[in-house]
Amino acid sequence: MEKEEIPAQKCNNPECEKPAALQCPTCIKLGLEPAFFCGQKCFKDFWPLHKLFHKKKKEDKGDDSGIVNDGFKYTGPLRRYEISKKRDVPAHIQKPDYHKTGQPLSEIKVQGSKHIPVYTDEEIEGIRLASKIGRMALDAAHAAAKVGVTTDEIDRVVHETIIENDAYPSPLNYYNFPKSYCSSINEVICHGIPDMRPLQDGDILNCDISVYKDGYHSDLNETFLIGDVAESSKTLVTAAHDALMKAIEICKPGVMYRQIGKVISDHVEELGFSVVRTYCGHGVGKLFHCNPNVPHYKGNKANGFMKAGHIFTIEPMINAGKWKDLLWNDNWTAVTADGQRSAQFEHTLLITDDGCEILTARTEDSPPLEIHL
Ligand SMILES: [Zn+2]
Ligand SMILES: [Zn+2]
Repeated sequence: MEKEEIPAQKCNNPECEKPAALQCPTCIKLGLEPAFFCGQKCFKDFWPLHKLFHKKKKEDKGDDSGIVNDGFKYTGPLRRYEISKKRDVPAHIQKPDYHKTGQPLSEIKVQGSKHIPVYTDEEIEGIRLASKIGRMALDAAHAAAKVGVTTDEIDRVVHETIIENDAYPSPLNYYNFPKSYCSSINEVICHGIPDMRPLQDGDILNCDISVYKDGYHSDLNETFLIGDVAESSKTLVTAAHDALMKAIEICKPGVMYRQIGKVISDHVEELGFSVVRTYCGHGVGKLFHCNPNVPHYKGNKANGFMKAGHIFTIEPMINAGKWKDLLWNDNWTAVTADGQRSAQFEHTLLITDDGCEILTARTEDSPPLEIHL
């Protein structure tokens, strides 16, 4: 038998002498000198150093492929990117009233009412199931969220997880929103649109997932750390998480909805952060958004008190700088007015006879949050 031909290339890892035939795909994509590795192990081990070559190349040419050049006065470094076309939902899946027209008529009909729905056991089971599917989709998004992956690719993962469970991604076409979840990066507070921007080392990414299953909605979100994130951002993300959990602790029958804001403000203001005022938690169930309205800041005048059978979200948006927000010219993406970062966590909660149940709770299979590693 003929002797196996030894490749002319040597492994890019200087500590390795082995011949190498595996080429770094990112180098190829960026048009760099080919970098060879002997195998996946050296490629992985040497990655922290090797990736710096990619970064330099990107800085040299300015990685602006896919950026929408619209002349908008952005408040921070983030820019709009191209978005992909709308994803389909199979015909057999039950859809909300806005799926075609964009108009949630059932919600619009009850606007102005102060009534807070009390759900029956049967309805609660429906919302519980929607919440379980939401949790699965959020965990799938979390597993997919890595440096170099676009939020559009995560949209595909979220969309497919939801429709595999015969459910509908609630954000899709809600007031004409074009995607199946909201992706809010860095200075985006909420309602970011998944697009073609690859996630960058050091980003923070909030994925907000809502699911409609057999007539019931659920709603939850988490903020993930992408790659190596600055300590200041970790503190911000941790503050948003802890503020939500502290607010949940006070929830039980008889508590006024306006009390939630004080718990959140007290926790995060102590750390020098601020609470967004424009966007609030909300009732969720038969409708995507309904009563109660749940502001997250101290001194709010929200109506009503908690009663067994109420279902609503708490979803504090916490800013590193000032609380003020503004809207991008896509009419969805809400960003901080000062361009500093913002973080958020959200759960769907059920008030029980003696406390509250987190319907969207993490499970044993949920990838651990980076802030807890
Ligand atoms: Zn949400
Ligand atoms: Zn929500």
